[in-house]
Amino acid sequence: MELSIVVPCYNEEAALPAFFEEIQRVLHTMHKSYELIFVNDGSKDRTMEVLKQFATTANCAVRIIDFSRNFGKEAAMLAGLKASSGDYVTVMDCDLQDPPSLLPKMFEELHTQEVDVVGSRRVTRSGEPPIRSWFARRFYGLINRFVEVEIVDGARDFRLMKRVVVNSILQLCEYHRFSKGIFVWVGFKTVYLEYENIERVAGETKWSFWKLFRYAIDGIVEFTNAPLAICTWVGSIVMGISILSALYHLVSWMIYSYLATDFFASMMFFLLGLNLLGIGIVGEYLGKTYDEVKKRPIYIIREEIVSKQEVSR
Ligand code: UDP
Ligand code: MG
Repeated sequence: MELSIVVPCYNEEAALPAFFEEIQRVLHTMHKSYELIFVNDGSKDRTMEVLKQFATTANCAVRIIDFSRNFGKEAAMLAGLKASSGDYVTVMDCDLQDPPSLLPKMFEELHTQEVDVVGSRRVTRSGEPPIRSWFARRFYGLINRFVEVEIVDGARDFRLMKRVVVNSILQLCEYHRFSKGIFVWVGFKTVYLEYENIERVAGETKWSFWKLFRYAIDGIVEFTNAPLAICTWVGSIVMGISILSALYHLVSWMIYSYLATDFFASMMFFLLGLNLLGIGIVGEYLGKTYDEVKKRPIYIIREEIVSKQEVSR
């Protein structure tokens, strides 16, 4: 098997037919043996029926991994990567926002540039709500200030990887997975192909603003301990300032016999807020650590279907 294509699907009955058609059209021109691995991430619509039908009618190797419930795209990608057997592997969204037509170019780059990974990067965010783009930009700016690896703004999960890269990714078995970080953390020579944003072909986005916000917090907590260090620093600075201000008030009390209680009251509220913020940040890390030590499986497979067709070209 030369190429494995991992496709996470959550409520994608509307987008899947167009995806099947386009991916097969592109792969047909590439003359490579390939398998399509669809991970049905607990869809509530007819995604599973559409996939099953595809497995019986398609003349290529199709594997369907059906989750027992929705575990999230990260879990779906992991299951797909684990099941893949190709020398080259790629992850793709099934809404055609990761254009299959980029695949031949990715292969070409992989060989001519002698790299291990060819990633893809959106250079525009047109069609996205402006508030979402704004937060995304701030997020990349913030996280890259602290993490040891560079998380590329606009980089997609759509990337062509050599087997050795996939095996390295599979060695990271954390429960809260932040693939944008994991992909760069494992290293390897990478180049990015740039393209303009494409709107999804059908259906709607599965990421609400808050889901993305949580994902951003996951990324920060998974990849840097800087917020903990910031707590310590801010705590120390505030303590220093409080000591100075207490001394100042003590002296002014001795000179003028007057103590400004309002000032102390507002200081107290400020410190109380700061304390809670610190506890909250520590709590985020503690919660994540708790999830890791529980060692629960990252996903549960309900059923696995492998089409009869073994290898296709
Ligand atoms: N997806 C998934 N599980 C989820 C959410 C999304 O498998 O819980 C899949 C979805 O079916 C799609 C891909 O992840 O193939 C990207 O999702 P979407 O297009 O909604 O995200 P966006 O492109 O809007 O960021
Ligand atoms: Mg999409």
